[in-house]
Amino acid sequence: MRYSVAMTGEVETAMRDHLVRSDGQEDVLIATYVLSTGIERTTALIKRVIFPGDGERLVHGNASFTGQYVLRASNEARAQGHGVVLLHSHPSGKGWQRLSATDWATESEYERVAYAITKMPLLGMTLGGRDTSWSARFWFDKSTPTWAESVRSVSAKLAVTWNDEIIPVPRTTRSQQRTISSWGERTQASLARLRVLVVGGGSVGLDVAQRLAATGLVSVGVMDYDAVETVNLDRMIGATRLDAALGRSKVDVAARLMSSAATADRFQVLRHEVSVTDPVGMNAALDYDVIFSCVDRPWPRAVLNAIAYSDLIPVIDGGIALDTFPDGRMRNGIWRAHTIVPGRPCMACLGQLVVGDIPLDKEGLLDDPEYITGAHRDAPSRQNVAALSASVSGALLAQFVSLTAHPGGRGTPAPLRYILSTHTLEHSSADSGLYCPYEGDTAIGDARTSLAEHREDWRTVVRDRAHTKRPLRLRIAVVAECILQRLLSLAT
Ligand SMILES: [Zn+2]
Repeated sequence: MRYSVAMTGEVETAMRDHLVRSDGQEDVLIATYVLSTGIERTTALIKRVIFPGDGERLVHGNASFTGQYVLRASNEARAQGHGVVLLHSHPSGKGWQRLSATDWATESEYERVAYAITKMPLLGMTLGGRDTSWSARFWFDKSTPTWAESVRSVSAKLAVTWNDEIIPVPRTTRSQQRTISSWGERTQASLARLRVLVVGGGSVGLDVAQRLAATGLVSVGVMDYDAVETVNLDRMIGATRLDAALGRSKVDVAARLMSSAATADRFQVLRHEVSVTDPVGMNAALDYDVIFSCVDRPWPRAVLNAIAYSDLIPVIDGGIALDTFPDGRMRNGIWRAHTIVPGRPCMACLGQLVVGDIPLDKEGLLDDPEYITGAHRDAPSRQNVAALSASVSGALLAQFVSLTAHPGGRGTPAPLRYILSTHTLEHSSADSGLYCPYEGDTAIGDARTSLAEHREDWRTVVRDRAHTKRPLRLRIAVVAECILQRLLSLAT
């Protein structure tokens, strides 16, 4: 199991403002956390800051907690079902902080108290004052802590402190020279370590995934249970006629193209042939730091919209809608891109997710021509053009760069849309709904009301594909393809 910590930018600011003192002294603070449990990674989400009352902490040289402060905070945490976080600062510290003998003694002493009251492990965190870097460890027993691999602050800007001992800085390669000269080694070292998931391996997802690999990211996941079909070939750049004839899975095609585009030393594709609307798919998504939503269906987008807030994982979403005149000529095209993070409106508040469509999608009614006619709805538009789908992937990737590399120091923009007929780029002025249920669930982790459901339909698609018998000419073509790829890799 891997461990990490995440918090909203708002919580981070509150904790930092308390811990970084104008007199340069150390200080201490207590907060609470809840868990967000993925398949391979467990993340503690910082929930609430409990500031010390008068006399509840000592600030002379080495700052310290009083037993009374720890007891009061632990009882408040228990009342909410949260765990306890003990925080302190190292005013001159830079980068991921280790524990001094005093720190170790303090945290291991309070480990039993916190566990006895909350029944959750104590979390220890340190703020390095010189570059506001965070570090964290879980105390599963009093003898030795289990270190987290990263601490993420999530807002319009994603800021990550990495534990270099668990996730070392990836070696840069010669093919990355131009990339690194654009944003520097520090940004590259952080960005390359992000685990990014692309949900949907269609025209946009396939393009995004390849460009992430080429940017030097070390671990990129792709999630899709569908296969390439001939009708996809006008937009899925890099997919071949053989892929369509074989009905090869989109995940396998993405993996092949990403591996040849990758510039990282040890590139890893993580394949997920599942639906994100299934608990298995949703839990796998919780292992990631950033998610691209490259699906157009309401149900999977609703799942991603929810975990962006409940589990503090930024979701970069967008899409394209083309519009034609009755005689078939093009009237207009609009593409959008927005990053769903705490502090920014969710897909529903943006009008990009119609909550009433989610149950229709679950029942499969959005594809049912009889239902669509009876309900006087328009059938979902399936139109897309390769020349324009690159604009969507470009817009999503620009959101990713703003989120992670912070050009201009500003993080992700307000939701953007480009209108093809008038050549205008608009900033949406949409705001969060006052009682938005998605945003109201910020940082609730495993207490989320899950929108994912166990279904057999996508499992059947994956199973049938595995058992399809191929005609002889296709089997020969696959062998020839293998030999050709082997020869190419030997030659270069
Ligand atoms: Zn909302």
